[in-house]
Amino acid sequence: MKRTLSILGSSGSIGRQTLKVAESCGHKVAALTVNRNAELAEVQARRFRPRLAVAVDEHSAADLRVRLADTGVRVLSGQEGLLEAASLPEADTVVAAIVGIAGLCPTLAAIDCGKRIALANKETLVCAGELVMARAEEKRAEIVPVDSEHSAIFQCLQGCGDRGEVRRLIITASGGPFYGKNREELALVTREQALKHPNWAMGAKITIDSATLMNKGLEFIEAMRLYAMPPEHIQVVVHRESIVHSLVEFEDGAILAQLGSADMCLPIQYALTWPERTAGPAKPLDLLSCPPLTFQKPDPETFRCLGLALECAQRGGTATAILNGANEAAVELFLEDKVSFLDIPRLVEEALDRVPVLDSPGLGDIFNADHAARETVYKSVR
Ligand code: MG
Repeated sequence: MKRTLSILGSSGSIGRQTLKVAESCGHKVAALTVNRNAELAEVQARRFRPRLAVAVDEHSAADLRVRLADTGVRVLSGQEGLLEAASLPEADTVVAAIVGIAGLCPTLAAIDCGKRIALANKETLVCAGELVMARAEEKRAEIVPVDSEHSAIFQCLQGCGDRGEVRRLIITASGGPFYGKNREELALVTREQALKHPNWAMGAKITIDSATLMNKGLEFIEAMRLYAMPPEHIQVVVHRESIVHSLVEFEDGAILAQLGSADMCLPIQYALTWPERTAGPAKPLDLLSCPPLTFQKPDPETFRCLGLALECAQRGGTATAILNGANEAAVELFLEDKVSFLDIPRLVEEALDRVPVLDSPGLGDIFNADHAARETVYKSVR
């Protein structure tokens, strides 16, 4: 099936790979959005000829407007531009690939239009999962995950009509570049070391989250929301080889897994074509050249971010929005060389101690919790 896409975050890692899939499989692109990268947005717009191109930053939008003056592509800016891209009538599928809580409102706008959401923005479900899933059900908007672990689980659940048949979701974790290190060693790691992931090439924020294991914590919460599973029924296992992307254990004891090379084109493509499968650009997996597959227990004490996320998953309410907001701020400071690697969990924990948690939050409560968590982090390093 050919789809018409609106790609929110087309200059990022997922956005660029989505365009690769679109080109290879013949999906159309109706809109693309970037934050600041007008140069890449121009190249992409000339190639895919969307009706709408958005740069959130005003200056970049002005630049992009000049660059695309001869093309007839409409250029918009700001939050209004993003919301228009998310609800463009000719797009049947919105690829939500903006990093962070910034992706929440555009995703909700796309849900309100009943579009299929190929969801690559995990922070949306971490911060406002219950609200987003309820809205999607009400508007009959399909949410198909792009995150490799959640796509694997989604694929394993095909043909399973009753969630009561599921005993456990098992999420695999590569362990990141520092797996096996103790806290003394972690205290010394640099930004450059943290930005080198052993198996996956990704954006800076998610690469740091992978090194702290916060990424796995966020994915745990994402799985809870996406599949309406209680935390007791979700397990994280370290799988250094990143070949088994996740598993589902059923009531009869059968465990289904999805395997593949570490190539995001496959989960992106499946989110577009589901329930169909088509040929595409993903690198095939050669079982005979795979290393032995290993599975180990994670260490949420040493990798405190994972421990904190698991505690927030239990707590619920705005705890997960506080966790996420504090982490976004702490990672930003780490990338600017203003705090150390172990400051990230320390700052997140401090925010969780200081910002009060509300139960059954509305959207406003979630944004307030996010804001308060960020402020706590920024203040403590000022
Ligand atoms: Mg993932």
